[in-house]
Amino acid sequence: MGFRIPERSVIPRFPVIFGDVMLERGSGKPLPHVYPATGHTTCELITAGPGDVESAIGAARAAFPAWRALSGDKRRDLMLKLAGLIEQRSKEFAELLSLENGAPIVAGPYMVMDAVQKFRYFAGWADKIQGETLGSWAGPAHNYVSYEPYGVIGVIVPWNGPLYAATMVMAPALAAGNCVVVKSPELAPFSVMRLGELFREAGFPPGVVNTLVGGPEIGEAIVASAGIDKIQFVGSGATARKILRTAADSLKPCGLELGGKSAVIVFADADLQLAGRRGLAGAISASGQGCVNGTRLLVERPIYENYLKSLQTIAPHIRIGDPFDPATIMGPIISEASVQRILGVVENAVQRDGARLLMGGERMGGDHAQGYYLPITVIADVAGDSALAQNEVFGPVLAVTPFDTEEEAIALANGTSYGLGAYIHTENLRRAHSVASQMQAGIVQVNGSGEGMQPYAPFGGMKHSGHGRLGGEQGLFEFLQVKNVWMNLAKPAPAQVAK
Ligand code: NAD
Repeated sequence: MGFRIPERSVIPRFPVIFGDVMLERGSGKPLPHVYPATGHTTCELITAGPGDVESAIGAARAAFPAWRALSGDKRRDLMLKLAGLIEQRSKEFAELLSLENGAPIVAGPYMVMDAVQKFRYFAGWADKIQGETLGSWAGPAHNYVSYEPYGVIGVIVPWNGPLYAATMVMAPALAAGNCVVVKSPELAPFSVMRLGELFREAGFPPGVVNTLVGGPEIGEAIVASAGIDKIQFVGSGATARKILRTAADSLKPCGLELGGKSAVIVFADADLQLAGRRGLAGAISASGQGCVNGTRLLVERPIYENYLKSLQTIAPHIRIGDPFDPATIMGPIISEASVQRILGVVENAVQRDGARLLMGGERMGGDHAQGYYLPITVIADVAGDSALAQNEVFGPVLAVTPFDTEEEAIALANGTSYGLGAYIHTENLRRAHSVASQMQAGIVQVNGSGEGMQPYAPFGGMKHSGHGRLGGEQGLFEFLQVKNVWMNLAKPAPAQVAK
């Protein structure tokens, strides 16, 4: 019978939006969009070309002085209006999220509300950006600090959570008084396209927000442009390295939100059922294609085999299938190339590195075979220094490793180049605090698996997971420059009278 192929009519029309211009065709390459649940092409977009990038940056630069000068309360009200519009279109956004990358429709309302809440939260900051006064060691002076927007922020986001990533940058950047040029990801372009349209409906001045669909060459053009004052990148470490090289020529600052290999530490005193469900979330959430998914399960030896059994008991109840079926919990992988790459990782872990395949590991058949489907795959007895334990897989693959002591668990958790998330399962308060304080990770959750990641909390990584924070007050200050003004208040000395 096959999975439902969604209506084409929901697909947004404008791959290029800048200033007061909305184009149904950019000046760049044709881009067929493939729906990963069926492998069908949904539409062919004509993407932005280099000329469109320059037009978008020009529009943003032209809009910046007035946007910066607009009082905070007016920026706040526009952002609140936009949040309301996103909420009103919740159903439509949820469908676009499923269509663009196969996210289950059941997750849509949460993802849309997350975008709404980000704009509401940062709208609350737009009218509260204030300076400070300092003392003076150099005689009487009025000495103060002010916070000012950068100008135009170039925003580049990945396909796995385009609305999530774009809004976590756009909301604070706009609240701080910047304009933005956002590149929508080529594999999943629809939600950011629709978002671009809504800014006009909300009454934002033309040019404050500009959205372009395009591939790496459009991202490169944004990074290289002299009209961009700061880059905020969300994506892989490999691309971040290229971006930093390009940005070096203009000494452009770059905020980086990159990948992870986050550990889930399960101590013997943990609630086993809860820890089992939370452990599987690393494979299920976004089909394992999430930057902060807990994908390395470190389990204390006395409960190790029982924990593996609990994973085997729970996993078969997870419905994997048609993203538009409300009963579906887990959707497809983004592409055929990713499926092949992930199967190769599994084969190497088992055949070459001697780990134990507990479940999954093969492409799904039946209706699933037409699309890019992999089952929840759990690999046990994974050595901490093996390729599977060290590298981001970006698929529904969990690596499980036993440990004997708290110190060993901490060493294993910190023993990769990444430092995005860490999850600790224990009922022991001392241990929870102590282990959390020793995690080399930007986000630590105790007995949780993501629900603490809210717009008011700083989100970001240590080590190769990036730097800078999005979310919370720290996220706002990523988009503000600091200025110190010292004003001499000393009376000029009386002029010497010549005899
Ligand atoms: P990617 O790095 O391949 O692409 C990300 C974006 O960069 C895309 O829009 C792409 O077109 C663009 N790009 C590619 N080459 C470029 C270049 N040379 N110059 C400028 N832009 C360029 O990543 P992906 O495969 O789309 O996404 C998956 C990665 O993103 C994973 O590593 C994941 O962990 C990470 N991620 C991180 C976060 C976070 O908040 N830390 C969130 C989501 C995803």
